[in-house]
Amino acid sequence: MDAAMRWLNWRKPTGCGKTISGEYGHCGALFYREQNVIDLRSDTVTRPGSAMLSSMMKAETGDDVYGDDPTVNQLQDTLAEMSGKQAALFFPTGTQANLVALLCHCQRGDEYIVGQLAHNYKYEGGGAAVLGSIQPQPILAAEDGTLPLDVVAQFIKPNDIHFARTTLLSLENTHNGKVLPLDYLQQAMAFTREHKLALHVDGARIFNAVVAQGVTLETLTRHCDTLSICLSKGLGTPVGSVLCGDRDYIEQAKRWRKMTGGGMRQAGILAAAGLYALQHNVERLQNDHDNAAWLAAALRDIGVQVTSQNTNMVFAAIPAEQAEPLRLWMKARGIALFTGPRMRLVTHIDVDRQALETVVREWRAFLAA
Ligand SMILES: *Cc1c(COP(=O)(O)O)cnc(C)c1O
Repeated sequence: MDAAMRWLNWRKPTGCGKTISGEYGHCGALFYREQNVIDLRSDTVTRPGSAMLSSMMKAETGDDVYGDDPTVNQLQDTLAEMSGKQAALFFPTGTQANLVALLCHCQRGDEYIVGQLAHNYKYEGGGAAVLGSIQPQPILAAEDGTLPLDVVAQFIKPNDIHFARTTLLSLENTHNGKVLPLDYLQQAMAFTREHKLALHVDGARIFNAVVAQGVTLETLTRHCDTLSICLSKGLGTPVGSVLCGDRDYIEQAKRWRKMTGGGMRQAGILAAAGLYALQHNVERLQNDHDNAAWLAAALRDIGVQVTSQNTNMVFAAIPAEQAEPLRLWMKARGIALFTGPRMRLVTHIDVDRQALETVVREWRAFLAA
């Protein structure tokens, strides 16, 4: 191991035992830095392996604010081509990619129709409203994760000075692990053309849909104007999201990205991880889906009420009074879970079948104790 690798593998314990309360539960920073924790809280917890790290260290770089970083350009060109869009733009986070997407699509006083539980409505700090003066019009998603188009139609405001101007429909694919059906994507695209709306897809986990449906990325993205993709979830990179769209749109997005502080310099070291992931970590998402299906069945077998499983996510309902004892029980055994009456468990590249067997074994012991 050379010095650089040693440095990258060295993780300084913070000693920060602070707990954070909220929807996402309690996190003890020190605990999660242990190498062998089985962490099912999210697919964002993955850490780059040595092959990915060495591709990052070998990356050619330049100043990406000047468009000079060849590795960033290569990543953007690759995803533009894969998505069938004219251009793509690299961002530090999916939240920023979605924010910029909305800032490009909507003017001050415009409105976007979005799912009540969509990330770019509920989980992005109200950024579109705060920073863009864009009004969200949230609606309830159907059981399959789609936004029913007849309901969307009811919420499109007529051209009247009382109303915000409805200009965009925003979908999420996958939504809570649910893959939007292909024919729905087609219908949504036709619907938005008919109603003169733009269509944005928050495709943070779009590659889970690609793998689950056995289609190309372009098969899904031909049915939208713009798409954001996270590289730092199931694809396993430490950082990065990409926004895809037509050339003029992406030119506009560059300005908003700079303005919102997302213009990075030698970002090629990060983009290299993305290129590595596109090559090595897409097809393997099927393992995560298979592992989630296995976990759902195994938990049902021991009497846990599994409510659903889609792609790499398992949802379970547990008695509220079990939540905290279960979390502590698991934590003491090196397993990180967000527990609550409605629990989400997420499989990813850093948990294999054997790790899941351990989870089920410990859960069974918890229920017996
Ligand atoms: C995680 C996520 C994002 C945002 O990603 P960050 O990189 O964490 O900002 C956006 N949309 C969806 C659906 C996500 O799951």
